[in-house]
Order: sequence, then C-alpha cells, then structure tokens
Amino acid sequence: MPELPEVETIRRQLEKEIVGETIVAVWSDRPKMLRPSAERFLKGVKGRKVREVSRRAKLLIFELDEGYFVCHLRLSGRLFVRQKDDEADDYAHVILKFKGGQELRFSEMRLFGYLADQEALGGILSKYGPEPLDDLTADKFYSILRKTSRPVKIVLMDQHKIAGIGNIYANDALFLAKIHPQTPADKLTRGRSDILFTAIEQVFKEGLKYGGASDQWYLQVHGEEGSYQDYFKVYGRTGQRCDVCGTEIERVALGGRGTFFCPECQK
Ligand SMILES: [Zn+2]
Repeated sequence: MPELPEVETIRRQLEKEIVGETIVAVWSDRPKMLRPSAERFLKGVKGRKVREVSRRAKLLIFELDEGYFVCHLRLSGRLFVRQKDDEADDYAHVILKFKGGQELRFSEMRLFGYLADQEALGGILSKYGPEPLDDLTADKFYSILRKTSRPVKIVLMDQHKIAGIGNIYANDALFLAKIHPQTPADKLTRGRSDILFTAIEQVFKEGLKYGGASDQWYLQVHGEEGSYQDYFKVYGRTGQRCDVCGTEIERVALGGRGTFFCPECQK
C-alpha cells in the first residue's frame, strides 16, 4: 500500500498539475468507488475549482473553492494526470475531467480505493494520529510507545496512533534503529525511542528522495516508477545478506504482515 512517501510524492506532483483546474465532469464505470454515491459526489465537485492538494496520513485531500473530497489509494490505486486524448489506462474506473482537457484518472485494479466527499467521510480525518515530518515529536512518540505492550512494529503501523507508516517503512526504520520488530513498545527506553523516531524521519526522507517505492502497484502521476525499492534495507529481502553485518535477513509474520529483520543487528 502506498505510504507517506508515495502519497506525498503524488500530492506534490498533483499540486503542480491540477491546482486552478475546474472539474467539468466525472465518469465512472464503478460508481461504488464514489462516496456517498456517484450522484452526490458529482453534485459536490462539478463546476468546482481545485485550490490545493493536501495530505492526511495516506489520504489525499483535494481542497475545492467550496468543500473538499479525498482519495484513498488503498492497495493498488494509482492516480494519473493525462490529456483527454491520451491512451486509456488499465483499470481506470473513475475519471475527473477538467475544463482545459486534462483528466485525473483513478486506476484501481482491486476496487478497494475510493473518492469520498466531506459528508461521506464523517470525522475520519480527525481520528488519525500525529504526522511524522510534521507534528509528531520525539516526546509524543515516546508517550505513544510507553502506553502499550503491543509489538513496536504493530504500534508504528496503527494509523490512529501515528499516521502514514505502513509495512515497508516500519520494517526499514526498525532496522536502522536496531530494534527487533516484536519488542513490546513499552520496553523501549527513552533513548531507543528517540533513535527510532529519527529512523522513521530518515526512511521517510529517503522514500521521498527516491519518489516512493514501486515494488508493487505504486506509480507516480505520469506513470513513472519510484526507486526506493532499490534501497530497501530489510523489507522484502528475505534470505539476502544484511548490508551491515552480512547475516541473512529473516521473515516472520506479525499481525498478519510480512516482517523482515536482521537477527544479528536487531535485538
Ligand atoms: Zn545485520
């Protein structure tokens, strides 16, 4: 699933492409991807101008001259900016058409992704935890960890506790911090919590620098791949050698997710 660096990369690109554009039509062959309904969604966005594209956790927020809507890419969602006569994109089930002939195409193979207006969202945006690289501080981070004995990796990925961290960057941050993913969160000292906090910032900054990770579905808005997958530290590298000590990277399932670590470096 696209995580903070992937969604933020898309946000930055969309800001350059569609701010100031007016939505004139919405086409969809999977109306269930529009919430609360295709009719209501269309009514809320038609004729509106995009003023800003922001982000909260893994959601993109399209601020309009009146109201806003959000896009959740889920596992396989892609957003492409194209011209109306450009070749069709696979799985493009929703297309927002702009006045000047540009299109925002929402390609979603698994159909779990959605666009929702503010009414359909209810209060969900306020339920996310603080944002790394923004309002998450080392103090807040430590107070989140010390309140639970769940494995630290599970806590990192809990969007209600901290926003934007998914499986790739949780694994790689724990490796950088030399912390075993199964360590109970409340067993980490303040010093190790601070090291992990810095590691999260570091992996996110690297992810942004490389334009995200395209090991699976994620692509940028003109169809380019990101390249963070070439720099994975442990994520997806079962059986390969640790860059630091040469030990083989191991994989276990934790909370149903593949969890990768170096048994020598991470204690
Ligand atoms: Zn190692």
